[in-house]
Amino acid sequence: MQIHINGSTLELVQGDITQQDVDAIVNAANSSLLGGGGVDGAIHHAAGPELLAECRTLGGCETGNAKITRGYRLKARYVIHAVGPVYRDGKHGEPELLASAYRAALELAAQHQCASIAFPAISTGAYGYPMEEAARIAFRVIIDYLGEHPEIARVRYVLYDARALALHARVLEQVLAE
Ligand code: ADP
Repeated sequence: MQIHINGSTLELVQGDITQQDVDAIVNAANSSLLGGGGVDGAIHHAAGPELLAECRTLGGCETGNAKITRGYRLKARYVIHAVGPVYRDGKHGEPELLASAYRAALELAAQHQCASIAFPAISTGAYGYPMEEAARIAFRVIIDYLGEHPEIARVRYVLYDARALALHARVLEQVLAE
């Protein structure tokens, strides 16, 4: 699925975030930035040990924020390490923190002249965020941002499996109809 916003493209694809040929890929990082499982483990594995070495110099990252490194052995020139919230019950600032993590990642991409960026579904794995709610928040932030920042030409939202892709396509249709 692909839509156009203010001259930019938002596309949903099924795939592996580590394999994306874009200027920056986003990591679903934890606040230590020192590695984890899921997307984080896959990105560090694919990028090589130099990525962890650079992450060690960053002093971690607060939840709701993001930091940028080089991409090393990845096709992507940069990795943007975004820290989403651990989901408790949705009443502990999780929606705002998730939105803030997406926004921070987009801002870093724009500051580093990235015309294309790929996101995973931040917080929806180990961090337990219900996927439908997380998708709605992510798409609202991305659509708003692209409306104001045509310098980002392409946002690719990468889902790991067919079920997640179908759910995200449905939520994107809903958000566009609001
Ligand atoms: P978090 O700790 O922020 O919840 P996870 O890495 O555990 O992050 O999972 C985030 C989402 O990314 C989950 O929906 C998971 O299925 C998906 N995912 C896991 N590995 C990959 C990958 N290699 N590429 C894209 N998405 C992935």
